[in-house]
Amino acid sequence: MNHDLLRTLQSVLGPIGILEDSQDCAPFVEGARYGIGQAQAVLQPRSVEQAIATLAALHQYGASFVLQGANTGLVAGSTPDEGGKQFVLSLNRLKEPVLIDPIERTATVTAGVRLSELNEAAEKHGLFFPIDLGADPSIGGMIATNTGGARLIKYGDVRANLCSVDAWLPIGGAMPLTFGTPLRKNNTGVELKHLLCGTGGALGVVLRATVRLHPLPAQRATALVVPTSAASLMSLLAALERDFPEFTASVEGMSQAAMEAVFRHIPSVRNPFSDGIVPSYVVLVELVSSLSHATLSLTTLLEEWLGEMLENEVIEDAIFGDEEALWRIRHGISDALRHEGKVIAFDVSLPRRYFADFRAWGHAWLAQHYPSVRVCDFGHVADGGLHYNLVAPKTGPGALTAEAIAILRSAILDKVVQEFSGSYSAEHGIGPYNRLFYEKYTPHGVRQITGAIERILMPGIHCGNVHFD
Ligand SMILES: Cc1cc2nc3c(=O)[nH]c(=O)nc-3n(C[C@H](O)[C@H](O)[C@H](O)COP(=O)(O)OP(=O)(O)OC[C@H]3O[C@@H](n4cnc5c(N)ncnc54)[C@H](O)[C@@H]3O)c2cc1C
Repeated sequence: MNHDLLRTLQSVLGPIGILEDSQDCAPFVEGARYGIGQAQAVLQPRSVEQAIATLAALHQYGASFVLQGANTGLVAGSTPDEGGKQFVLSLNRLKEPVLIDPIERTATVTAGVRLSELNEAAEKHGLFFPIDLGADPSIGGMIATNTGGARLIKYGDVRANLCSVDAWLPIGGAMPLTFGTPLRKNNTGVELKHLLCGTGGALGVVLRATVRLHPLPAQRATALVVPTSAASLMSLLAALERDFPEFTASVEGMSQAAMEAVFRHIPSVRNPFSDGIVPSYVVLVELVSSLSHATLSLTTLLEEWLGEMLENEVIEDAIFGDEEALWRIRHGISDALRHEGKVIAFDVSLPRRYFADFRAWGHAWLAQHYPSVRVCDFGHVADGGLHYNLVAPKTGPGALTAEAIAILRSAILDKVVQEFSGSYSAEHGIGPYNRLFYEKYTPHGVRQITGAIERILMPGIHCGNVHFD
């Protein structure tokens, strides 16, 4: 390591702010799903001032670094490469007290604050940040990946709930630049805060942000619903949006194979289906409202409505139960699949009209070309999001080589993007894991513009493994 740089970093961060021992660095060099490398050191600023001074030092000495929040990202954007020369700049200690403004319904948070910590502070005011997922990410990482989650149809993604960002860019020097405002109306030209959203740190380092909060629902009604056919799934969705546009928060799809994996491997999750027979496809429907139960019972509303859907043969069954228990099935899938074999994960989205067609094509195509692979898909049906996860044997007959997996991955993504007009990265963003697909599917002109923006905002900065040029 450059000794002058090390001395500067030590004076900024003190001895506890720098990890050099490989064991101490271990949790920071491996991603939640992809990405494993080596770090020169892990840098952990504890204040915005320390973060800015650290960034200035890395910039001055031309050092290469990756930004990291809670390290729950799924495209390898937060972990260093294998060269051992990159620093990890972990912002997970950058936690100043959360400032809640109940009049504006906003929270101002520093980058390292976790989603659960933000919600704990917001709950005292009857508010919450409505991005819901099975991990507990940092706010900086959520902005950088524009996290989606299971309640996107009601509340939108992070971008939709982002008021302003204080970001470090080299042109700002020792001061962060503020993009955006908590104002609800501000029609004054280009909204630059969006550049920071979903770009993995390539266009600036998020230090602090103000996000919009929502009133905590007073009640929820949750049911597992079995559509009569693939076509009736979309009729169910259309009817929900027609009849309860203000209440519909989630419509999460789960295939039989995905649910069976949960019941097999997660003993705390009970199989709620009669005789234990798991239907071929189930959707978890959730309605939420801020109205009190005394004013309106969502459970009664949903029960009666599903009764009509049953009569009209849109669905063949509906199961009500403890909402936490039902959600545990959905949130247990990723974990459970890891016990089943080698998971080949896809985070795609499709126009809703093609959802059933794509699933039908996938089943047939895989049965013909990759008979050892099982489809264990699930996802955010209402927004077209599909975690098209496949499971192959880890070893022995039917196990796939890395090359075979790469060919399979390419074939499926070509189909998604080129024939079904879908996306190869629905909500996890761009990182080294899917960078090649960015190059393949992004129009040349768009890449040129984005690359030019990156060169303007982050000239000469060796930040991260996510690049748009
Ligand atoms: C079990 C599980 C379930 C998940 N479910 C969902 C889901 O439903 N929807 C969804 O969208 N995602 C989901 N994810 C993915 C992941 O949780 C999100 O991408 C998350 O928001 C990343 O936040 P993080 O703090 O962990 O970021 P990290 O993983 O640490 O970093 C992610 C990216 O952001 C960059 N970054 C981190 N901090 C900053 C910063 N301060 N400034 C600029 N760039 C920064 C990193 O360099 C990297 O490129 C899931 C992950 C897991 C493990």
